[in-house]
Amino acid sequence: MQNEANEPRGWLGWLRPDFVVATVLDLTGEDIKRMSPATRAVCLDIDGTITDYHAPSVPERSVERLQSYNETGLLTFIISNCHDERVTEVHRLFGPLVTGVLTPGDAVDPADPRDRPGRHIKPSPDMLDVVAQRYGLASRELLMVGDQLFKDVLSARRAGAASVLVPREGSRDHLGVRIFQRPIEAVLRAMLRLPVKRRSWPRRLTRAPR
Ligand SMILES: [Mg+2]
Repeated sequence: MQNEANEPRGWLGWLRPDFVVATVLDLTGEDIKRMSPATRAVCLDIDGTITDYHAPSVPERSVERLQSYNETGLLTFIISNCHDERVTEVHRLFGPLVTGVLTPGDAVDPADPRDRPGRHIKPSPDMLDVVAQRYGLASRELLMVGDQLFKDVLSARRAGAASVLVPREGSRDHLGVRIFQRPIEAVLRAMLRLPVKRRSWPRRLTRAPR
């Protein structure tokens, strides 16, 4: 359940994040608790959010930031659309740093022989739903942090979770995302009155305009 102020209004409302911040490094547990007191679990995308696309390691300052959420009393989850060999790598890189790592395969119904990981990639809300079910959390207690309106923000909206949009971390991108999605997102950010130029993103967690 979302409060009424957060209800999407029109199709654009489904892409409106609740908050914006310049980087995950600027997103502190203290600010989350102050600005979003219902939040009990921080759920983070990886590629373009914590690290560059398919980065082979996690920078030390990002490690410290991820571990700091736990110290503030927040559960921390990775919610990544990664697949194939990258799933193992993501578990190795992030497993020791967070409460749980979820990839689309974690939302597959073992009782349904036709189910596949591809059905559960963001913007599906399914990975967030799995976190809520496994940890006994209400959807509004989840805060999804990501760099893509069409994946991270939309999946959070569909799950009934709150969301934080960050500008893309790093310079690389999935080819399809770079060619088709990013130019559209830039237009939509302007329509949503979100930061467009990199220097205009706030260095502290800030409520997105409505
Ligand atoms: Mg991403």
